[in-house]
Amino acid sequence: MKLKLVEKRKEAQGTKSFFFETEKDFDYLPGQYFYITVPKLKYKDTRGATRHFTLSSSPTEGKIIRITTRVRKESGFKQTLNELAVGTEIEGEGPEGTFVLDEKEKGPQVMIAGGIGITPFRSMIKYAIDKNTGTQIHLIYSNSLPEQISFQKELENWAKEADNFKLSMTVTRPEESTRNLPTGGQEWNGLTGRIDEQMIKKLIENWKLKIGNLTFWLCGSPVIVDAMEKIMGQLDVSAGRVRSEKFPGY
Ligand SMILES: Cc1cc2nc3c(=O)[nH]c(=O)nc-3n(C[C@H](O)[C@H](O)[C@H](O)COP(=O)(O)OP(=O)(O)OC[C@H]3O[C@@H](n4cnc5c(N)ncnc54)[C@H](O)[C@@H]3O)c2cc1C
Repeated sequence: MKLKLVEKRKEAQGTKSFFFETEKDFDYLPGQYFYITVPKLKYKDTRGATRHFTLSSSPTEGKIIRITTRVRKESGFKQTLNELAVGTEIEGEGPEGTFVLDEKEKGPQVMIAGGIGITPFRSMIKYAIDKNTGTQIHLIYSNSLPEQISFQKELENWAKEADNFKLSMTVTRPEESTRNLPTGGQEWNGLTGRIDEQMIKKLIENWKLKIGNLTFWLCGSPVIVDAMEKIMGQLDVSAGRVRSEKFPGY
């Protein structure tokens, strides 16, 4: 179906959202994705003119859909997408995918996002809050730098306002941050370091959860998701309680 670009918005350093009006109404589930095709590549790209993108919007946010991505110079596709003028029509196919939050899932859900892997979780969390599903969601969100955290303010506000949503963010290279301080660096009050077995165990203890009752959701680059799956094994989480989505290309 035709998708008309209606807004581009900077979400974080190097990360942008693209909002589209759709040619026709359709239903989607939180966490589903679309195939997005640009009409003509302005810059060469060996991977072609189509990519998968999760809808970072929630079905509760109305008819405009949103995708969010890291715009890299090395990607001809993304440079083309980034330079599209508002009003341009592109092609979208979807929704697709089974990495979706079921409204009936009432047990505690622990979502672990690496970088841009936050996109399906933004959709799911917003959905659970708007629909008041009662789902308990605990998000662990890792980025290299504080300035690369997408949706930071929004997530922090949701965590303040919604009893069922808990948030923990970590950055792996806080010393390289140039946000805020003229001298470089930034006061970062959250966790630091990569997500590992100890960090997950500690958070689960702080949140007063029991590992055996949890469903884990993992999303990010294949390297991050593979590392998290290994940790799931170390924590003795059964395979049936782990849901993964890998974003290839990162
Ligand atoms: C189900 C599904 C859902 C997805 N949802 C999303 C989503 O919501 N958002 C999203 O962004 N992606 C998502 N993806 C991934 C997306 O489809 C692309 O594969 C991904 O964004 C990479 O895009 P790209 O190929 O344009 O390459 P990019 O990784 O953007 O860059 C192009 C090339 O540059 C190289 N490169 C990248 N970074 C560097 C660097 N720092 N230094 C040197 N070289 C570099 C890479 O090797 C790559 O070949 C999803 C994928 C799937 C399967």
